[in-house]
Amino acid sequence: MTDRPFVLIPGHPHPRVFERLQTGFQIVRIDTADPALVTPDIAKKVRAVAVSGAGTGRITADFMAALPNLEIVANFGVGYDGVDAPYAGRNGIMVTNTPDVLTEEVADVALGLVIATAREFHKAETWLRQGRWASEGNYRLTPGSLRGRKAGIFGMGRIGLAVARRLEACGLPVAYHNRRQVPDVVYDYHPTLKGLAEAVDILVSVVPGTASTEKAVNADILKALGPHGIFVNVGRGSTVDEDALIAALSDGTILAAGLDVFADEPNVPQGLLDAPNAMLLPHVASASIMTRNAMADLVADNIFAWFDDGRPLTAVPETADVKAAAR
Ligand code: NDP
Repeated sequence: MTDRPFVLIPGHPHPRVFERLQTGFQIVRIDTADPALVTPDIAKKVRAVAVSGAGTGRITADFMAALPNLEIVANFGVGYDGVDAPYAGRNGIMVTNTPDVLTEEVADVALGLVIATAREFHKAETWLRQGRWASEGNYRLTPGSLRGRKAGIFGMGRIGLAVARRLEACGLPVAYHNRRQVPDVVYDYHPTLKGLAEAVDILVSVVPGTASTEKAVNADILKALGPHGIFVNVGRGSTVDEDALIAALSDGTILAAGLDVFADEPNVPQGLLDAPNAMLLPHVASASIMTRNAMADLVADNIFAWFDDGRPLTAVPETADVKAAAR
């Protein structure tokens, strides 16, 4: 028991991550990933960090540097913008994420947001609950519709493709923008995001939060999307200029927006809270019991695989070359 490696879990772990890791490792917990909370004993013992849910904080270079025997950071989520993966890659630390197991769940939510935003489900339901259907009559006819519209995917990766298939099944022509055209994907490719926004009515963003996507959806892109345009974001909030989006929603530059992610979660700008044509979700796209359990299993499986075989299941590209023997 005492020779089992130590895994550090900052924040409040998903229970399944905790239960699984307890069967093979010694667990150390701290409130958040703050280097000031790393005691000399933790620094000496810890060989793995499991990022496992709420309150973790960012896994910064300083935090990793405070753990000289750290070998692996297993991230809970496919988006790993909360981990300084370039630093990890340069310093022989493996980083893993949880791709694939959440793809269809997140794509379901993206489609749900497209339909609900276009057809104003949130406002129509409020109309009913407030008794206005009975007192005032039918809810208004919606200017938004999927009929006759074209859809664009910003980020035709695993989730983007699953969203595209759903939208295609709804009868919409689909196009996309990535930095590179994807072989074997039949949808129209646009080499620029602006070109995509000009060509479509519904723009779904599923790109990761990186330096290259920071505020990529700006005033120019929203203007290109146009007054019938619907913008849906299930990727990361950092990819949107939220001030520009608030302005575009209020002055009719676009018709509506459906958002699952925000730049400064859990804080949502007042301008979005006040926008009647924005449907807002608290980052729930992967948040079903089933899918979060699958993500928790993959966090644990990556740490088991690293210590059992020297190879994790799902390394992120920045650390794909990190070898167990290197440290
Ligand atoms: P993938 O890596 O499979 O896809 C990402 C896509 O984005 C790739 O096709 C990539 O293509 C494209 N992309 C990346 N950078 C740029 C850029 N600068 N310009 C244009 N395209 C770009 O990831 P997944 O589909 O599995 O996940 C996507 C993201 O969804 C995650 O990173 C995460 O942030 C978010 N997510 C959100 C969830 C939620 O709860 N709301 C849940 C799960 C994921 P290329 O490299 O060719 O440009």
